Amino acid sequence: MCGIVGYLGDKQAYPILIKGLKRLEYRGYDSAGCALLNENLELKVYKTKGKVSSLEEYCKDKDVSGTLGIAHTRWATHGEPNDTNAHPHYSQSKNLALIHNGIIENYLSIKQMLTKNGYKFQSQTDTEVLVQAIEFVKTKYDCSLFEAVKRTLHFVIGAYAICVIEKGKNDTLVAARKGSPLIVGIGEGDFFIGSDATPIVEYTNNVIYLDDEEVVLLEKGNRPLINTINNEEIEHDISKIELELNDIEKQGYPHFMLKEIFEQPKSFDLCMNGRLNVEKKEIKLSGIIDHIDKFKQCNKIIITACGTSWHAGLIGKYLFEEFCRIPVVVEVASEFRYRNPVIKQGDILIPISQSGETADTLAAIELARKKGAFIYGICNVVGSSIARATDSGTYTHAGPEIGVASTKAFTTQVIVLTMMALSIGKELKTITNEKYESIVKELCNINEKVESILEKAKEIEQISKIFTYARNFMYLGRGYNYPVALEGALKLKEISYIHAEGYPAAEMKHGPIALIDDEMPCVVIAPLLKTYEKVLSNIEEIRSRKGKIIAIVTQGDKDIKNIADMCFEIPQTEECLTSILSVIPLQLFSYYVAVEKGRDVDQPRNLAKSVTVE
Ligand code: GLU
Repeated sequence: MCGIVGYLGDKQAYPILIKGLKRLEYRGYDSAGCALLNENLELKVYKTKGKVSSLEEYCKDKDVSGTLGIAHTRWATHGEPNDTNAHPHYSQSKNLALIHNGIIENYLSIKQMLTKNGYKFQSQTDTEVLVQAIEFVKTKYDCSLFEAVKRTLHFVIGAYAICVIEKGKNDTLVAARKGSPLIVGIGEGDFFIGSDATPIVEYTNNVIYLDDEEVVLLEKGNRPLINTINNEEIEHDISKIELELNDIEKQGYPHFMLKEIFEQPKSFDLCMNGRLNVEKKEIKLSGIIDHIDKFKQCNKIIITACGTSWHAGLIGKYLFEEFCRIPVVVEVASEFRYRNPVIKQGDILIPISQSGETADTLAAIELARKKGAFIYGICNVVGSSIARATDSGTYTHAGPEIGVASTKAFTTQVIVLTMMALSIGKELKTITNEKYESIVKELCNINEKVESILEKAKEIEQISKIFTYARNFMYLGRGYNYPVALEGALKLKEISYIHAEGYPAAEMKHGPIALIDDEMPCVVIAPLLKTYEKVLSNIEEIRSRKGKIIAIVTQGDKDIKNIADMCFEIPQTEECLTSILSVIPLQLFSYYVAVEKGRDVDQPRNLAKSVTVE
C-alpha cells in the first residue's frame, strides 16, 4: 500500500512523477503529493487529499519545475486522509522532504524524544516522525543526508520504503527499504524510484532491487552507492524488468478489472506456457522438478495467504489432498504468524501472494523458515519480496494486475496449484496416469471454455441489473466450489459494498439459513459434480424460505434450471478445474453490480492493492 516514485536526472521531474503516481494509484488513493527542487534549489512540497487528479488540479498554477522530485499516493495507516497528513512531509526546518510506504511502529517513542528536543509536528502520521528524526540526527552529527538516513534507520522499528531529498541539493536523492518494496531504475544519466516497475518501464528496463535495511545514494553522474544501515557496502546486479507498457494500460476497457477478467485466457496461456506440453500431455514445473525430493519426503504442506490468495490456497488443499495424498493445512497469514504453529523439518510452506509483497505472508515465511520448513512460493510479480524470500517457487505470470479486486491473479494461482499437484502426484504415483492425462488434456483446452463464458458476459450483466436492490447476498458452494463461494462474496463486498457471505452449501442450515427471506438472493455454484444432488436439496431448502436463487450450472442442466430464478451455464470440465470456470461469472457479476451502483470499480473505498502493512 502507498505508492512512491522518484526522479533524478536532466528531464523535468513533475510529468514523470504524475504519470508514475497514476500507475501506482492501485496502491492507495487517500491523498497524493510531490516534492520538487527547482533551479533556485528551493524545495517545494505540494499535496492534497484525494486522488492524483486532485493533485494535478492543485498544482495547475504552481511552480512545478525541477529535475529532482519525489511523489506519493497514500493509503492512510496513521492519521486520517487529509491535506496535512498527505506525503511528502517536511522536516522542521523545511530543509528535507520525505515520502514513506509502511509503518514506523516505534514512532511514539521517537516523537517523544524529538518533542523534548524542541521538534513540533504538523501531522498525525508516523512518517513525519521519520523525517524529523533524520533532520535531528543530521544536525547532531553534522553529517550528510545519506549518513543521517543510515543512522536514523538504526533505531526505527517497523516497515519502510522511503525517499528523501534536501533543499539546495538538486543532484542527490536518498532512498531505503525494509519490508516495503522499492525499485531503483537506472536510465541513461538519470535515476528512477518506484514501488514497483510500472512507473519506470517506460524509461528503462534496468533496475536494482534493494534488500531490507539497504540505503541507496543516487547522485547525478555517479553509480548508485548502496550501503546497509550498518555501513556495509553492497553490490547488486542490475536486473531486467519483464513488463510491457501495453500491459499496464486499459486498452479501451472502461476499467482495469473488466480488462483483467477478459484477459484471463491470455494470462492462462502465459501461466502454462513452457510448462504444459500439449503434445506430450505433460507438465514440467522447474521449481518442482528441482525440489521433488522435498515434496516426496514432505510430512505436511502449509499453505498461507491473505484475501483472494487464501481462497486459491483452499482450492490448493483439495488438489494436494486428492492428487498427492499429502496432509494440507491452509492458514490466514495474519493469524498464523502470531500463533505458535507446529512446523517441523520436512514440512513445506507454500505462501501465495499476487504482489509478492503482502506483509503478513512475508512474516509467515520468516516464521516457518526459522522452524525449518522448506518454502515454495507462488506469486505474480517477478522479483518481488516473496519471490526473493522463498527457497523456490512458481510465478503465475498473469501479467500486471491493476484493478484492486483480484481476478486473473486468482485463476492463475489455481492453475499453478493444479499443475503443482499433478506434477507431484505423478512422481508420488498417487494419481493414475489416466486421470493425470485427462486433467492435463482439459487444462490444454480450458481457454476455449473460458472464452465461451466471456462471450456471454451480457447475460451476466442482465442478471446483475435485477439484483442491485439487494442489501445482502449469500454465496454457496461445495467441494472445489466452496472457496469459489467465498471468493464470489468477497468480490461483491469489495467493489459494490454490498454485504455478502460465502458458505459451504450444507453448512447453511447451521445458522445462515435464518437470514433467508424473499429479499435475499443466494448465488449457488452448482455444476454437475459429485455433490450435485446434495446442492439441489440445498437449493430446495432456500426456495422453501422464498430466497431468490441465481445458480451457476453445467451446460445442459435441467433440474436446477427448473427451480432456480436465474441460471448461468458454464461448460463441463474436470471436477478439479471447475473453480477456474465457475468464478468467472461471479467476477463479472460483481463487476456489473458495482458499475450499476456507480461504484469506483478499480479503486473501491478503503481498499488498496499490495498490502505491505500488517
Ligand atoms: N504510515 C504512513 C501513513 O499513514 C504510510 C502508510 C502506507 O504506506 O500505507 O501515512
